[in-house]
Amino acid sequence: MYKISVINKVTASNRGEGRIMTEKEIEGLLLESGAFLQGHFLYASKLHGSVYIEKFRALEDPNVTSILAREMIDLADAAGIAHPRVVIGPMTGGALLAFEVARQIGAKAFFTEKMESTMELRRGFHLEPNEAVWVTEDVVNLGGSIHQVFDCIEGLGAKVSAALILVDRSKGRVKVNAPFIPLLKVVDLVEYKPDQCPLCKQGVPLTALGGRKVATNKAG
Ligand SMILES: [Zn+2]
Repeated sequence: MYKISVINKVTASNRGEGRIMTEKEIEGLLLESGAFLQGHFLYASKLHGSVYIEKFRALEDPNVTSILAREMIDLADAAGIAHPRVVIGPMTGGALLAFEVARQIGAKAFFTEKMESTMELRRGFHLEPNEAVWVTEDVVNLGGSIHQVFDCIEGLGAKVSAALILVDRSKGRVKVNAPFIPLLKVVDLVEYKPDQCPLCKQGVPLTALGGRKVATNKAG
């Protein structure tokens, strides 16, 4: 099992060489912080699966968030994308990442808020016409939020030069007008319909979003 202090040292000691953490190291950091959970979970999609990402176990630790933000910036730098004046993330996790990415590159951090069917930039946050901003997001599933953030920014006459994503589990469902740069891609996630879920059949207790236990729906 990875220790955060070890990861930190690996990152820091190699920073001078412009080294980017490997996917394994990032995965280790998320496992260590408790952001990657294994068990029997009910997803927002109503499907079941054995892996659950609780991003706030990573984002609640500023040291971990700082390392992850550094890695996101490195990936954008490696892709040759200029630093923006503003980094924007949707509330809540995306906004926390926007704050830390912005802090490290000397930019401003804005956040979007979910309205009924759209994402909006409120609080007097101002974008210049045509300016290129970075977008940050924690976990992208179906991509609904990230598409809404793009609509919001483009609707205000600005544009996005990079979408920096902590974990992409969208399986290619996201189509945006900017480089889509995930730190980690979950490609082997298996999801089951409840009546076909092997974990249900084994009687493994089902955990809902937010860690609540729900009644096991034993098929039969
Ligand atoms: Zn199940």
